[in-house]
Amino acid sequence: MLFKKNFFLISFNFLVLLVPNILYFVYINELVSRKLELLMISVIVLLVLFSLLKKAWLFLVITLPIALTVPLEAFYISNYHSFITPHIMGIVFDSNISEISDFTQGNEFKIFSVYLILLTMWISGIISCYHSKLIYNHFSRYLILLIFIPFLIYTATIHDPSFSDIGVYEDTEMEIKRNHLPDGFYRFEKTLPIGIFISVYEFYQETQQLYQLLERTKSFHFNATRETSFAQNKEKSEIYVLVIGESGRYDKWQLNGYAKPTTPHLSQRQDIISYDHFYTRSNSSRESIPVMLSRKKATDKHFGFHEKSIIDAFNTLDFKTYWLSTQMTFGQYDTPISIHAKEANYLKYFNSSNYNSDGVYDEVLIKPFQQLIDNIKKPEKHFIIFHTLGSHFNYAHRYPEEFDIFKPSLKNEAFNLHDITVKEKIRNSYDNSILYTDYILNEFLNILSNKKDAISWFVYLSDHGVDLFEDGTSSGQGRDSENVLHIPLIFWFSEAYQQLHPDITQMILSQKIQKNTTESMFYTLCHLAGIQIVDQNGVKTK
Ligand SMILES: [Zn+2]
Repeated sequence: MLFKKNFFLISFNFLVLLVPNILYFVYINELVSRKLELLMISVIVLLVLFSLLKKAWLFLVITLPIALTVPLEAFYISNYHSFITPHIMGIVFDSNISEISDFTQGNEFKIFSVYLILLTMWISGIISCYHSKLIYNHFSRYLILLIFIPFLIYTATIHDPSFSDIGVYEDTEMEIKRNHLPDGFYRFEKTLPIGIFISVYEFYQETQQLYQLLERTKSFHFNATRETSFAQNKEKSEIYVLVIGESGRYDKWQLNGYAKPTTPHLSQRQDIISYDHFYTRSNSSRESIPVMLSRKKATDKHFGFHEKSIIDAFNTLDFKTYWLSTQMTFGQYDTPISIHAKEANYLKYFNSSNYNSDGVYDEVLIKPFQQLIDNIKKPEKHFIIFHTLGSHFNYAHRYPEEFDIFKPSLKNEAFNLHDITVKEKIRNSYDNSILYTDYILNEFLNILSNKKDAISWFVYLSDHGVDLFEDGTSSGQGRDSENVLHIPLIFWFSEAYQQLHPDITQMILSQKIQKNTTESMFYTLCHLAGIQIVDQNGVKTK
């Protein structure tokens, strides 16, 4: 009887350990076969562990630390539709108590109660199983070990990059690998208990890598001065805003001649200048963004750069600098950007999810921006960078239901980026993401233009575009095609700015039809803010 009771108890504990994967199955909009595979892997790993340990009490002791992660993972999956990733760990480590309570959303008492129940379950289970000497001795134990251990070894060693989070993107010339472990290990990334070890390990490696890169530029500072016409201003506030978009493609904007009404707000504005022939020099964010923000050349494919970005020049000139992001912190695609984000006086990542989930929408940036602008007093100087999710794949995840205008779309459907049979739906979802970007940018512009009297400008540009099966086969950002490299670039200037610096606004307008690339961006931003960089020989460069 006692044996039977304990058998049920251990089965129940077993089930608790599977809760994150069961929730993942329920909440995540992914291919069912994939979710089933993840759930099966979790079951198999636990079965193997139990078979190896034999003694039920020992199994419970070993799985206790894993059980303690279950409520957090469960909470996370049901709220943010993602397993806890190294990015989330980074945010939590960099947060203070009040920011952490943003994550838990006032559910602290519930979380505490769940922990109490869990601990009681595990400890009473350990004691009870120890006394009843529940041991797994059935012959099936040998069968499990014989079949599943080779299966797990096989799974961990086969090469399948699609199992890493962002493996859907093709990328070349990777100098530092995102994956610190063999590819096969990432099959376990979204399974418990192995997933938690992978995440912790990745977090450690990524942090080390980031700090190594930061160390390289630690002593670097721009010798920056200001042009007289800017330096003379002692009364008005200066607010400069740079929005870095994601996967925004020039020809999909109504503003730039697209037939579908994807930018109804921006198209109506008379006060913006949209460039016609502006190109990114790389099809990946991690290469494109450092080139636009620093003096790094596009031909320099090294991971990281020995100089800081334009943020440092603003810092030197007593600007308050901000990096507000809905993107990620760590990984081969993100770390080269995070190095520059760290240069800002104030850094915040708003997305508690990851690229594979719907996560947050870019609108989370609107309220903080409004508050920031409201609190600016004369004659403060601010430089704000928004790094937005824009049209980051999965396009259907980037906008709320009310922006699901172009249909049929892939909203609430699981699909593969490279599946040509859903081409029209992929294109419509992409157009909806531009429609949403139009709304976000217009909100930003309204907030900024309401700050009357401020000397301000606003620049938006995307890091790269995407292919949407125009050539019959390509989808995503992997190719150096016109669709991928031709990006939107938008300027806006406040009235106060235009009055003070008519020469600059005229210059920007006159270059609208010129062909140019992201390599010029660093110098353009310097020019717009009246920043002169002085080299070792005392020569000023604009
Ligand atoms: Zn990108």
